[in-house]
Amino acid sequence: MRVLCVSTPVGALGSGLGGGVELTLANLAVALQQRGHEVTVIAPAGSTLPGVPVITVPGVPQPIAQNQSRQDPITMPAGGVLGRMWQAVRSQPWDVAINFAYDWLPLYLTPFFDRPVVHLVSMGSLVDYLDEMLAQITQTYPHRLAMHTRAQALTFGSAIAQATTIIGNGLDVRRYDFCPQPAPVLAWVGRIAPEKGLGDALTVARQTGYPLRIMGKIHDPDYWRHICTQFPEATDYYRGFLSTDELQKQLGECAALLVTPHWVEAFGNVVMEALACGVPVLGYDLGGPGELVRAGETGWLVAPGDVAGLAQAVTRIDQIDRQHCRRVAEQEFSLAAFGARVEQWLGRNRS
Ligand code: UDP
Repeated sequence: MRVLCVSTPVGALGSGLGGGVELTLANLAVALQQRGHEVTVIAPAGSTLPGVPVITVPGVPQPIAQNQSRQDPITMPAGGVLGRMWQAVRSQPWDVAINFAYDWLPLYLTPFFDRPVVHLVSMGSLVDYLDEMLAQITQTYPHRLAMHTRAQALTFGSAIAQATTIIGNGLDVRRYDFCPQPAPVLAWVGRIAPEKGLGDALTVARQTGYPLRIMGKIHDPDYWRHICTQFPEATDYYRGFLSTDELQKQLGECAALLVTPHWVEAFGNVVMEALACGVPVLGYDLGGPGELVRAGETGWLVAPGDVAGLAQAVTRIDQIDRQHCRRVAEQEFSLAAFGARVEQWLGRNRS
């Protein structure tokens, strides 16, 4: 198949502004290439993706949905890159197009194409206009939606969840080094924005006496300033936004990863990346992590917001076998298996 992947319009691939979508798209493209498909990516100007042809499109980035409230109207900035990317879709040859944007326009455009446009939804339910469009799509086309976890799909209600293909996620575990001997340091990895709950991880670090290695894009500079006022040590802990190669090195050295979402996490790429390095995961049972972490085997989960419970879990890190975490990552997040699931989903939309 000629598969066209239409990236997120919130920023260039490689910038970190797209969050987990960036790694997901990169891994999905490789997984489909390995199965013999011809993959092309359309993405905002400045995007890079080694080994995959990328058509870049200039334009104003789309505002992020995380900052909107449920009833906000749809926003389309003048000169917006999203509309331009979908204009580019019209001039490309393809058999199936996968939309990675969490936006109204690609959903709305779906019936206007004579070939299947399918949607990989990257977040849980946040805004009413999107829920409405997703419901309409499922009524007209039964197989067009995919999401990463059951918990994510259920945030849209049972009707949408039932019509959604759950594809999980996958990575090339060989890109992640196994680190048997961790340093006495905890990790926190992700976009620095309120929904990711960095403050909770810093509280756990203070309570347990471990330093915290913070890695990720500063998505919300005001939030980061607020965090640094509350936790001045955060400035020293911060390692920046790292490439996957550097990230896995720094993450792999840590005793555990803390995952502290304040929203229903769609999947949690950082969970599978930590496990691939052999790093146990301690986090809130909220969305994806609840389906990815095996209690007592690859980490521990506590109720959302239970900072004391997380601090308690830190005292039990030694009970987790790091080698076992790596093995579970190899089995659960196999890139080949991910590619096969995506291919099956796409196939259902071609018949
Ligand atoms: N990430 C990265 N460099 C960093 C920190 C994070 O490339 O320094 C990437 C990480 O590999 C992961 C993404 O940021 O793919 C975060 O994705 P996740 O699914 O955990 O959360 P999201 O941002 O989608 O809410």
